[in-house]
Amino acid sequence: MAPKTVLIVYAHQCSRSFNSAAKDMALKALTAHGYNVIMSDLYAMNFCAAATAADIKGKLKNPEHFLYAEETWIAWKEGRLSDDINEEHRKVAQADLIIFQFPLYWSSFPAIMKGWLERVLTRGFAYTLQNTYDNGLCKDKKAVLSFTTGAAESKFHPDGINGDINVLLWPLQNGVLRFCGFQILAPQIFWGPQQASPSARTAMLEAWQSRLKGLMDEKPLAFAPNDLFDLTSQAGFRLRPEVKEASASKPYGLTTGQHLGKPLPPNNQTKPPSST
Ligand SMILES: Cc1cc2nc3c(=O)[nH]c(=O)nc-3n(C[C@H](O)[C@H](O)[C@H](O)COP(=O)(O)OP(=O)(O)OC[C@H]3O[C@@H](n4cnc5c(N)ncnc54)[C@H](O)[C@@H]3O)c2cc1C
Repeated sequence: MAPKTVLIVYAHQCSRSFNSAAKDMALKALTAHGYNVIMSDLYAMNFCAAATAADIKGKLKNPEHFLYAEETWIAWKEGRLSDDINEEHRKVAQADLIIFQFPLYWSSFPAIMKGWLERVLTRGFAYTLQNTYDNGLCKDKKAVLSFTTGAAESKFHPDGINGDINVLLWPLQNGVLRFCGFQILAPQIFWGPQQASPSARTAMLEAWQSRLKGLMDEKPLAFAPNDLFDLTSQAGFRLRPEVKEASASKPYGLTTGQHLGKPLPPNNQTKPPSST
């Protein structure tokens, strides 16, 4: 059987950073376990973060009213996307799993990685309006966010000053990756490596190293499946009445996003269901 391929999309400016160490660890451990590892080192590639008309070769359909998703969708169908996007599409197509390795910037991806997501997860390639969530075009692929924070873990608790980490993760994991169909593995969070002792930092990297061996076979996080929703515009793509009725007596909402006004299901965005 052909070895499985892991794409590491990596965003840090410095090869002496903790993020670089986490990326190197993944490269080394996954290669040792027989995976084919490919890399997009975004700063080293000087990857363009801005989604503009320069991403399209040839004539625009509507240059007076430029709509990025429309124009890139057409360009994708006609093979007129820029070479750097085509190259990333080739890597994503090859990948069974994508690891996004980055430092948390303003509670989100660094701009260069957000740009990668905006430009590479092209309509037609990663999703269509009919193919989202369970049916997203990346549904046979896995993805994992591996990131460092500046702040300590305690600040990301439901009573912490930064708020619940599950809430922070929802738009990144559900709004981007799950939208395109990815099966999302529990995030690897390196809490505050800058404040940690050298031995604590080493322990964090060792924990990542031991997780990497079985990463590909981990159970993904739970999201609400498409069939729980009435997927018509008349119904507003909302949960079916019978699903809401069945949830009424439950102590928690369905997911971090579909919370139904109830307490959030614990660890919904950080752990797969069996381990909560
Ligand atoms: C624009 C911006 C926005 C930000 N927004 C947020 C935010 O919203 N929330 C938040 O929490 N933080 C935020 N931060 C902070 C940011 O997330 C942290 O600075 C970053 O996550 C730290 O990771 P690093 O890889 O850069 O750490 P580094 O400083 O590179 O590394 C930490 C330590 O690990 C050491 N190290 C390197 N390699 C190894 C190794 N192999 N073994 C052991 N130790 C090693 C380094 O020498 C260093 O001492 C923001 C920062 C910026 C610039």
